[in-house]
Amino acid sequence: MQDPFGRSISYLRVSVTDRCDFRCVYCMSEDMSFLPKTEVLSLEELDRLCGTFIRMGVRKLRLTGGEPLVRRGIMTLIDSLGRHLQTGALDELTLTTNGSQLEKYAVDLFAAGVRRINVSLDTLQADKFAAITRWGKLDKVMAGLKAARAAGLQVKINAVALRGVNDDEFDEMIAWCGREGFDLVLIEVMPMGEMGDATRLDQYLPLSMARAQIQRRWTLDESDYRTGGPARYYTVRETGGRLGFITPLTHNFCESCNRVRLTCTGTLYMCLGQNDAADLRSPLRASDGDADLEAAIREAISRKPKGHDFVIDRRQAPTAVPRHMSVTGG
Ligand code: SAM
Ligand code: SF4
Repeated sequence: MQDPFGRSISYLRVSVTDRCDFRCVYCMSEDMSFLPKTEVLSLEELDRLCGTFIRMGVRKLRLTGGEPLVRRGIMTLIDSLGRHLQTGALDELTLTTNGSQLEKYAVDLFAAGVRRINVSLDTLQADKFAAITRWGKLDKVMAGLKAARAAGLQVKINAVALRGVNDDEFDEMIAWCGREGFDLVLIEVMPMGEMGDATRLDQYLPLSMARAQIQRRWTLDESDYRTGGPARYYTVRETGGRLGFITPLTHNFCESCNRVRLTCTGTLYMCLGQNDAADLRSPLRASDGDADLEAAIREAISRKPKGHDFVIDRRQAPTAVPRHMSVTGG
């Protein structure tokens, strides 16, 4: 699958649920209303959709959400998708999780063929963790991380850089990840959902500033390590660990974008930062054959835009997309 700008689409991110057991302040409001069940694709429908994308050339699949591991029966889907790893049709099956359910699922995930996972964790302090996630418990996530490591899963920690919240902890997180053998990726907060622009401006920390601060304590060697994602990686000389930066706002990485995103209702977003989308649920439900579905996917890819233009700037009104990150899963 090639888009009009010659980019080959080989990476599909699938949000398997819009629900979550946390209410992170930058992601959800406390009183979220979630989708009715009838709108959400069944696990069988998700499996069929993913299978179609794989047939059409997707080599890497990431499950996300909401929180993917709170979807009931999720291991049925993950086990089923694992088949494509065995046949060689898929290179990687992975997920992004808040870690709260990892203690329960780590062994099963490894057995299904998952080898690497991203775990979102913005702080190592229990009270701060509770404040950021509203409903989360840090010790549960820590137990999940331990289980993941014991099961043989490689872990990458994703931390959203929040000014005045966790920017005093980067040094400690780098040291901790170094000790635990986890990669660490810092992410700029993105203007998703309607959460009050004042809050967003207050939270926004350009990663160029974060990096300068980190370099006062650590030596960052440029690295050509890539995961097929938008992160730029460095090796922390003192720990040997990898440190990545995802900077959608200060560095535009759209030219190498190889991905599309599917929501749990079967809506395909061709760009995280644009509103254009394609409905795949109708062709999926309209017939048992996949011909219409494939045509709809092809048509959608032909509309993939060149890029996005998020802006958080005090002089301008923020350019945002109105949907929450829990819809497209980041
Ligand atoms: N619940 C899972 C988790 O937290 O990892 C998966 C879904 S979550 C929406 C995916 C990622 O998006 C997380 O790493 C989260 O920190 C990030 N995220 C959510 N809202 C964001 C925002 N406004 N800006 C930047 N990253 C955001
Ligand atoms: Fe849930 Fe992940 Fe959003 Fe936090 S970032 S509320 S864990 S979906």
